[in-house]
Amino acid sequence: MNTKVWKVDKYVDNLVNNPQVVDAAHFLRENEVVALPTETVYGLGGNAESDEAVAKIFAAKGRPSDNPLIIHIADREQLLRFVAEVPAKAEILMDAFWPGPLTVIFKKKEGVLSEKATAGLATVAVRMPDHPVALALLKVCGLPIAAPSANSSGKPSPTNAVHVMDDLNGKIAGVLDGGATGVGVESTVVDCTESVPVILRPGGVTKEQLEAVIGEVRVDPALTDEAAKPKAPGMKYRHYAPNAPLYMVSGTREFLQGLVEEKRQEGLQVGVLTTVENVEFYHADVVFACGRRAELETVATALYDTLRRFNETDVDIIYSEVFSSTGVGHAIMNRLQKAAGNKLITE
Ligand code: AMP
Ligand code: MG
Repeated sequence: MNTKVWKVDKYVDNLVNNPQVVDAAHFLRENEVVALPTETVYGLGGNAESDEAVAKIFAAKGRPSDNPLIIHIADREQLLRFVAEVPAKAEILMDAFWPGPLTVIFKKKEGVLSEKATAGLATVAVRMPDHPVALALLKVCGLPIAAPSANSSGKPSPTNAVHVMDDLNGKIAGVLDGGATGVGVESTVVDCTESVPVILRPGGVTKEQLEAVIGEVRVDPALTDEAAKPKAPGMKYRHYAPNAPLYMVSGTREFLQGLVEEKRQEGLQVGVLTTVENVEFYHADVVFACGRRAELETVATALYDTLRRFNETDVDIIYSEVFSSTGVGHAIMNRLQKAAGNKLITE
């Protein structure tokens, strides 16, 4: 398949009449799959009402079929078509954070969406992305669009169109290239089907921000307890992994440098994932700065690109600094733990 690349400037006016957006929407209406920029990461979109389109998403990504997709919409009225009820707390969350990096789980109305999109569950995950190109595309095609991250399953999520093409060129109809994404980690997934909402996946909206508008919010115990079964089926999979094994290192930078030297003496090429603050300190074969530790948002923005850049080097092993788990650090550490398969070395 020839994968089209449609370049779109997200700052131009009247995106709903933009020829690239209109062309991409046409492919979606034909049940083809198209990658699109959002404020979190690039998504791989397909008509959520079509088994054919949804099957193409799973096939292109190599995604396990038990892992349901997030449904993307451009206006709240679309919700009522496929959601059975909208609880009051969900209403407040949507008012506060949509469009934005928050996915809300509702009870599903049966018989509207493809069963493959929801992996046969009685619930459905929905969000409204905060990106002018994504919103224009959703408006023009007029369909609910199922869109997981536009990477091969298991790889770091894509934060620019080059990442998408590296993984999916030849496997999808096209990619709308609207430039690099901003937030850099995926949406926060909140289950609103229970009286106290539960975070199933940490992401762009923090627990503190959620609690400021709806009070108590729980966190799925599986996010901290490896033995517990996660309520979001996708959270059980290893994800975001670079090719070389990645170890998180908790301790001083001198301790981390000591680990680097041990491995180099064994003849291995060693990579270090650090931040701007410490990049000059380390001596290794490859040292990448992933944002600024003092501003964790910048670490989130750069994380997946940094993980992917290690694949362009010859490193045999990667050591990464760790971050505080507060605010967006919760999502950063969740993704790092998955990328590392939970391998942690403590001083
Ligand atoms: P991705 O599409 O890669 O951003 O991942 C979406 C995440 O949302 C995965 O972890 C899914 O398992 C989770 N998810 C989607 N729908 C549901 C649902 N109905 N209930 C629980 N988790 C869901
Ligand atoms: Mg994903």
